Amino acid sequence: MPVGELGVLAGLEGQVPAGLGEAITSMPLVDHHVHGCFIDPVTRGQFEQAINEGSPDPIPAFMTQFDSQLGFAIRRWCAPQLGLPPHAKADEYWAERTALPVDDLDRRMLGDAGVERWIMDTGFGTDIISSLSTMTERSGTPSSAIVRLEQLAESILAHGGDPAAFAPKFREALAQANPSVVGYKTIAAYRTGFDIDWTLPSTGDLEQAVTELNATSAGSARLDHPVIIAFIVHAAAELGRPIQFHVGLGDRDMDLHRSNPMLLLPLLRQQEIASTPIMLLHTYPYHRESGYLAQAFDNVYFDVGLTLNYVGAQSTQIIAESLELAPFAKQLYSSDAFGLPELHLLGSILWRRSMAQVLGRWVREGDWSEPDAIRAAKMIAHGNARRVYGV
Ligand SMILES: [Zn+2]
Repeated sequence: MPVGELGVLAGLEGQVPAGLGEAITSMPLVDHHVHGCFIDPVTRGQFEQAINEGSPDPIPAFMTQFDSQLGFAIRRWCAPQLGLPPHAKADEYWAERTALPVDDLDRRMLGDAGVERWIMDTGFGTDIISSLSTMTERSGTPSSAIVRLEQLAESILAHGGDPAAFAPKFREALAQANPSVVGYKTIAAYRTGFDIDWTLPSTGDLEQAVTELNATSAGSARLDHPVIIAFIVHAAAELGRPIQFHVGLGDRDMDLHRSNPMLLLPLLRQQEIASTPIMLLHTYPYHRESGYLAQAFDNVYFDVGLTLNYVGAQSTQIIAESLELAPFAKQLYSSDAFGLPELHLLGSILWRRSMAQVLGRWVREGDWSEPDAIRAAKMIAHGNARRVYGV
């Protein structure tokens, strides 16, 4: 069923001007940060863990993750994709879902998201989630790739060897990336936090850092050295392609408060970085700081990706807040869906529904014209991503 026929504006009758509603429910999206779907069937425990971003623990016996904004949103919007009524009970949803083969489930969810291109982070969970080609085959949508800088560096560091060889090897690996690659991603937020020295390290300091990491990592090379992190971000920035930064909401491995993007100011103020697009991902609860940075720096962009799925019915408020300071040319759509194809579809539905509610009110009350609202929505849906990534 095309996304325009999913009833995304159900219950909003009279609230969204017809032309705006029609445009927002049918415009193509570039999902500029997303992952593949689980290759194998999941258990109910694995499913419930996959709809919780913060805790890696098993779900406690006294609760179910279905009782959350995301759980309610899945029952509301994904149940009809399985032939169930909206708000079907969690057990009914689960029974219907587990009866379907993985590829069938993927096709039902992915193909209806109205996405024109997936820009996939290929650096995490590659042994358990689908590849670019499988995503493309099951959704009928082309895919591009994002390379994780830390993973690329670790693949070189794992071989040990001469610390002086690391910098040229890393630059060579970046230059050799596959033609499907349209940008990079850093998980500095997870590894060091943003409160590090972001200046490009000298050759001597970098070699010293590689020596230190080699001495402590015993071959496993988990890259958490701030000097090396600063180097790989600078080396990628030299190529001018967009660099995505994980910002805010993530699991509890990460010190959330050290992923406040205001801590990136010393990096953003550097002339060497000024012509590289810096893409702040997810950003909750720092979406307002991200909006400020997107206004303050020509090369900073942001999204509220992942947040929309997790806040469900509250996504209208997050969308409204994301439209406060930042110019509309500096915002993008993403789902950050990982594993469950429900998340790929739901991101699209909640974005469309919330945009229609927020822009619809501004048009209805006369603050915005309808053509302006449609134009701004198209910039965020696909226009900015097509321009920045060249897709
Ligand atoms: Zn992600």
